[in-house]
Amino acid sequence: MSIELVANLSYIVSAALFIFGLKMLGSPATARRGNALSSLGMLLAVIAGLVSSKTVGFEVIGIGILVGAIIGTLAARLVAMTSMPEMVALFNGSGGAASLLVGWGTLYLGSESIGTFTAATIVLAILIGGLTFTGSLIAYGKLSERISSAALVFPLQRVVNSLLLVAIVVCAVLFSLDPSATSVYLYALLGLALLLGIMAVIPIGGADMPVVISLLNSYSGIAACAAGFAVNNNILIVAGALVGASGIILTNIMCKAMNRSLANVLFSGFGATKTAKAVEGEVKPVSVEDAYYILEAASNVCFVPGYGMAVAQAQHVVKELGKILEANGCEVSYAIHPVAGRMPGHMNVLLAEADVPYEQLVEMDDINPRIDNVDVAIVIGANDVVNPSAREDADSPIYGMPIINVDQARTVFVLKRSMASGFSGVDNPLFFGENTRMLFGDAKESISGVIGEFG
Ligand code: NDP
Repeated sequence: MSIELVANLSYIVSAALFIFGLKMLGSPATARRGNALSSLGMLLAVIAGLVSSKTVGFEVIGIGILVGAIIGTLAARLVAMTSMPEMVALFNGSGGAASLLVGWGTLYLGSESIGTFTAATIVLAILIGGLTFTGSLIAYGKLSERISSAALVFPLQRVVNSLLLVAIVVCAVLFSLDPSATSVYLYALLGLALLLGIMAVIPIGGADMPVVISLLNSYSGIAACAAGFAVNNNILIVAGALVGASGIILTNIMCKAMNRSLANVLFSGFGATKTAKAVEGEVKPVSVEDAYYILEAASNVCFVPGYGMAVAQAQHVVKELGKILEANGCEVSYAIHPVAGRMPGHMNVLLAEADVPYEQLVEMDDINPRIDNVDVAIVIGANDVVNPSAREDADSPIYGMPIINVDQARTVFVLKRSMASGFSGVDNPLFFGENTRMLFGDAKESISGVIGEFG
């Protein structure tokens, strides 16, 4: 049996492991095993690729694996759970950069002349990989709040972007007609692709970032797929296609969660200068003791977690308070907004970590019709996902995004540290609502205080 045949058979096993792994990631109960299975598939693919490789020495690849493994292990161990979304953005970007390099590197393989098909795949790997790289760096900056999460728009942005696209098409065609490592069009394409990533992500406002993150994730897969075609590696094609397709499905889910079309998310930022109505009114703070008296008498309580719960790492005390309330004869639920937090499934991960029973988690569409039966909605560090201006203020940048209608519960406790706005930068009229009580402070401390009152 030839070494190529063994490698291709191993690739088939790897692809099957990826597919089963992905399927298992669909449920929290099997997700860990799914992750392990997919990693095993990747290990097998790497070994098969190495053994059948004729072009690079083992030493070079060994060094690459070692450096990658060290960075990956350190990142997984040292990065705080709250910084996970930024790390995912960086990893997407690294995927894009890797595909760009593989595509580019193809030009240095052997002396055979490069056909138009290979040239086209190189163009795609460089273009999509490059824009994924810089787009993800901007997403990283926005998620880590190193740069403003607001949409960054400037005059003639559409014109500039259209010219950029035309220039990319021209360079891509001219390079494909005469592909070589020294082609000036190659370097122009490289620069333009990197610029496109920046230009595509800066005009997208904070609240739309979930769509962008999933889209960049998908792009990183498509770039890998193109690179796979360029170097003629079957498993890279399959793995890239799987990432690309699952990223597109996630993008679609996120668009539905935001009630927006993809085109609207990608292009509405250009020239958008919407400003929400000024929010004013009386704020009614509540003390931990008074919060306790109200909760003690409640018979239906719904927790609504958001990004602040992740920052405060309050999930364990939230679950503890839920148990106490249940023991007190109260019905307890946890309402999850699909884009709460900073990454898809963020709240589910945190609540699962605290062992909150799955049957107590309710989706936005299930809680909203019965939210007027909720005695107390406890908003834990959520802001945008409970902002009524998304429902009521047509001038608000987040208008049209479905929210959890906590303002329609009998009483709302909002646990946060200040009156600051959420990730979208939009003020929240909920804080001034007739039935809203603000419990200021770190969410974990506030909830621990209430637990203390229950004795
Ligand atoms: P927001 O970012 O809207 O609000 C979080 C709130 O938490 C802040 O207003 C902050 O207020 C409060 N907070 C922070 N730290 C603490 C703490 N220690 N204790 C108590 N409160 C705290 O979060 P949401 O979850 O409501 O909304 C998510 C936003 O992020 C949406 O705009 C969404 O589109 C976007 N996004 C979501 C992604 C996803 O995939 N889920 C990805 C990227 C963006 P204060 O400072 O006053 O305490």
